[in-house]
Order: sequence, then C-alpha cells, then structure tokens
Amino acid sequence: MERTVRVRFAPSPTGPLHIGGVRTALYNYLFARQNGGKMILRIEDTDSNRFVPGAEDYINEALAWLGIKIDEGVREGGQYGPYKQSERRDIYRQYVKQLCDGGKAYVAFDTPEELEAMRKQMPNFQYDASTRQQMRNSLTMTRDEVDSLIAAGTPYVVRFMVEPGKDIEVNDLIRGRVVINSSIVDDKVLYKSADDLPTYHLANIVDDHLMEITHVIRGEEWLPSAPLHVMLYEAFGWSDTMPQFVHLPLLLKPDGKGKLSKRDGDRLGFPVFPLEWHDPKSGEISSGYREAGYLPEAVINFLALLGWNPGDDRELMSMDELVRDFSFAHCSKSGAKFDFEKGKWFNHEYIMNKPDAELAELFKPILVKNGIEPARFGDEYITRVVALVKNRVSLLGELWPNARFFFAAPTEYAEKDIKKRWKPEMPQIMQELIGVLEQAPDFASKPCEDVVLAWIASKGYHLGNVMNAFRLTVVGECKGPHMFDITELIGRDETIARLRRGIENIHAANV
Ligand code: GLU
Repeated sequence: MERTVRVRFAPSPTGPLHIGGVRTALYNYLFARQNGGKMILRIEDTDSNRFVPGAEDYINEALAWLGIKIDEGVREGGQYGPYKQSERRDIYRQYVKQLCDGGKAYVAFDTPEELEAMRKQMPNFQYDASTRQQMRNSLTMTRDEVDSLIAAGTPYVVRFMVEPGKDIEVNDLIRGRVVINSSIVDDKVLYKSADDLPTYHLANIVDDHLMEITHVIRGEEWLPSAPLHVMLYEAFGWSDTMPQFVHLPLLLKPDGKGKLSKRDGDRLGFPVFPLEWHDPKSGEISSGYREAGYLPEAVINFLALLGWNPGDDRELMSMDELVRDFSFAHCSKSGAKFDFEKGKWFNHEYIMNKPDAELAELFKPILVKNGIEPARFGDEYITRVVALVKNRVSLLGELWPNARFFFAAPTEYAEKDIKKRWKPEMPQIMQELIGVLEQAPDFASKPCEDVVLAWIASKGYHLGNVMNAFRLTVVGECKGPHMFDITELIGRDETIARLRRGIENIHAANV
C-alpha cells in the first residue's frame, strides 16, 4: 500500500537557520504539498552542549515569514509528538535497550583519556570490530562488572555494533545507488548516560520511524551518515518502512569554490540567514534577508532554483508553480553556486510585480524609521509614490532614497548637478517657470507638461538645462521619475515652494 507522504525538516537549534537549511525546508515543503502529504518540523536538540537560546523561535519565525507552513510540530501539535527530541528521552531509552538486549549494541566505559591514549598508540584507531575486544565494554567485561559500574553511576555510552565486511546500500533519489563497506564505519555512540540522551543518529532514526517519515530530504553533508542509518533500520527490523533518502546538493560560494559559509556573506556583503540574528552570547548581529529588504516570495523563488530547475527556461515561479513542478529528477548532483546578484534580480522582479498597495504597506515602516508619519500623507499618496519609484529598486530599503523627496523638500542639492545644470541665468528662468506653473489650467502630469514644454519652446530655452534645473529644485538632484508625475503628486503649491527655495538656496558654482 502506498504510504501517505510524510517529510520532516529536522534542524538542531544551535544558532540561526542557515540559508542552505531554508532551502532544505523548502524542498521538503514543496514535496509534501505536491503529494498531499504532511510537513513535520522536528527540533533535534539532543546535543545540549550546542543548544542556543532563541534558535528555535528563530526557526519558527523564519519559516513563517517565508510561507513554509508546518503541519505538525512543537507549536502546531500533532499525533506523533512530542516533536522536540529533548522531550522524548523515555522513548529513546526504550529503543537503546532494545538494541542492547538484541545484541546489536553494547555498553562502553572507555574514558575520553583512554580513547585518546588508544588513538596515540594506533594512528588509524577506530572503535570497531577489530578493536572493540581491547576496550572496556560489556563485550570484554562480565555482566556483574558492568552492572556494578552502572549502579555506581560510572558514566558510559552505548555503541552500535557494526558488523564488518558488509556492503551497505543507500538508495538516493538524486544520487542513485551508493554502496559503502561497513568496515569503514565505526561503532557509533548512540546514547550517553552522562546526559541521559541519545546521539543524533539514534534519535533521528527512531523518530523517523515512529513519525512514519516516508522521505528523508536533507543536505548532502548528511550523506556519510546514511549507511549507518540503513544499518540501524536493519538492526531494529524496520527495513521495510525505511524512508527514501534524498540528499540535496550543497550551496557553494559565489565563485563555486567550496561550501557557502557565514563568512562569505560578511565578506561579500550579503545575508546568509533568512532573518537578522542577534547572537545571545557574543552580541554579534548577522544580517538577514528580511531586514535587508527582500520579499519572502523572492527568496523562495531564488532558493528553489539553487539546485533544481523546472526543465525549461522559466525563472519566475510562484510557490504554487513550484509545488506543481518541483521534482527530484531535476535536482542536480553537483553543488549550486550562490549567485547573490541573481537573488537581487529576483527581488527586483517581485517588487515590480507586487501590487502597489501591498508595497505601500511594506514601505510604511521604512517611512516611520525615517521620521515620516505615513498617516500625514495617506495610503493613496504612498501607493502612487511606490508606483513611480519601484522600477529603480532592488531592495525595499532602496525605496526611501528614491522616494524621500515625495515626503520632504530637499535641504541639500547635489554639488555635481549644480555645477552642470545651474547656469547663471537659471534663477531668472525658474522665476518665469513659477509664473507658468501658477497659470497652468491643469496641474496633472500631461497637461502641465504640455504647458511647460510649449513655454520652453516659445522662449527658445535649452530643454535639458531648464528641465534639469527644475528637477534640481524639486528633487535635490538630477534623477528620479518623470518630472511631471512628481509635480502632479506633490501638487502645485509644494512645487512652487520648492522652486522658490531653490532659487534662493542654489548658488551657481564658481567656474
Ligand atoms: N539535526 C540535523 C540537522 O541539524 C538533521 C539532519 C537530518 O535531516 O537527518 O540538520
């Protein structure tokens, strides 16, 4: 019988979610949605040494911002909980016992110092079938010795007994069949008495089994663990329901040389985290896509295409289209270069396609940050402003420098534009322009433009010089949207006031 697709995103709360982790979550989500399945969020917090406060909230917030919806998880609940591994100790203890009782795992007492001594003595030391008989464990000690050590509270670990010389086959939907020999796998620690917690491997396998996970979709860095996981499934007798493995290609540095790291982001000036992260220990702040002015839809689209393609040359794809067209068949085996400029391009496209009224809503907090009270201008005005400037913007934050003059008259004028455009006769011509504008019967963009152009032509003035001087007084520099769209929006009084102020304050450069 076909099982219902159940996938899980299983981050460890050891810090902010890396953008590569976001892509893993996204592919899980796309696959679950496509198949009418369930997306589970499992918090893998069994490594208490690496626990970072705030990381779990960060993960939830990041996924919510991106529109990656979770069906079952710590917050969402579900029938397979708890969804946080530190709350599942009783469950793991039982399965550790099952392996020990079945002779598939054993207790070991070797201290870190003893293991270190062995490593010194034997250059390629590995705790496995060839060495376990020389170590201090339940295979070399009597039952009584073991029991009394445990009763005395001596710290111990439980190790998986890997049977050597067996070919272990991992079937991966992207990589195909991968075979490795079990002799290269060591007797992995599955449980530590010191904190009464299992290690990643055991908890991961037990939970995937109990949560009825059908597909394990995760980063390529976990591929080396897969043979061990296959062996664990066998040891438990769960091979029949073992999930299908899918190991996703790495995200590479922009130049393709090596894995994308946090430092690349700092070095090249782009975020590698979805949201800004404040490190609780060091106080260090790492930038995030949200705060850098990205739209979540753009980040999703950009990430979806890092390691997957739709099989044709489409680039702009909505979440719904991604859900429909995603397939592992079109995932690449090799790493995907993180082309940050492309990310910006996506964001620009999404800004262009976003309804102006929605963009205006996103602009409001930016206005507030810059000391502008949005209510003073109203939704319609702000919406018209963003419509005029959005084609110049790749990041939301760029709306402000491109639109500030719609909200406040310039207080400074660009030096180089003054030099080039503010000829000595300009104050006089601008004075005349004020008269023309005062008389213009209709101040809307087109009719106003017609009147002004007719006046310039009748006077034989230089069109470029006059229009740029005009722009300098209104905008503060010689760039921006169509001049008469600006004046229509700010209105006749404000336009004339700015012209007056310009005449008074702009002084021709001494050439
Ligand atoms: N906890 C692991 C991580 O942090 C999960 C790996 C897996 O998906 O099996 O990525």
